[in-house]
Amino acid sequence: MVERQIAARGIGDQRVLAAMRAVPRHRFVGEGHAARAYEDHPLPIGHGQTISQPYIVALMTELLEPRAEHRVLEVGTGSGYQAAVLSPLVAEVYTIEIVEPLARRAAKVLDELGYDNVTVRAGDGYAGWPEHAPFDSIIVTAAPDRVPEALVEQLRPGGRMVIPVGPVHALQELRLIEKAADGTVTDTMVAPVRFVPMTGGASLVR
Ligand code: SAH
Repeated sequence: MVERQIAARGIGDQRVLAAMRAVPRHRFVGEGHAARAYEDHPLPIGHGQTISQPYIVALMTELLEPRAEHRVLEVGTGSGYQAAVLSPLVAEVYTIEIVEPLARRAAKVLDELGYDNVTVRAGDGYAGWPEHAPFDSIIVTAAPDRVPEALVEQLRPGGRMVIPVGPVHALQELRLIEKAADGTVTDTMVAPVRFVPMTGGASLVR
């Protein structure tokens, strides 16, 4: 998976590649899909949600430029796979999932596998997680119509956010939001992607 799907497409961060090799993806995919867990596409995880294609997980992780001392927020825990990939790369991962049974299952799998720097919460991540802000980086794995203001606010100066933005069930843009030391925010389009829509507070502004 790592050589053919990820390194071959230009992901060069060795720490990210090592994390992608180490995490047992078959433990996170939906029931009955374990045999296909390492294939080059997204897979169902139940409740109408999906675990992203391995390459997209690696790309988003690399864009965050994770460092050992970082505190990261993820919106859209889903299976917990992305959080598991981040776990060995940073100090702490805070992850929020709006579908409670998914949050519970992800927390259980992450716990069983010993990813003990990951904290899972069931709830709406549209407003971020103010109690643990500011974050060195934020990764959003469900697509809102526009970048939620609260998430930009909870990004530390010097921080990076990776987020798919765009209309429901259409092609979205993966964007890199960078907050400079002086607070200036820049927004760069990285790639066209397709994610499930962000629900909760995000759906009120559509
Ligand atoms: N990162 C996940 C993929 C998740 S798919 C993984 O590695 O498996 C996107 C997830 O975002 C879905 O589980 C969906 O329920 C969740 N989601 C959608 N809107 C949300 C919101 N407002 N707050 C938190 N989670 C949300």
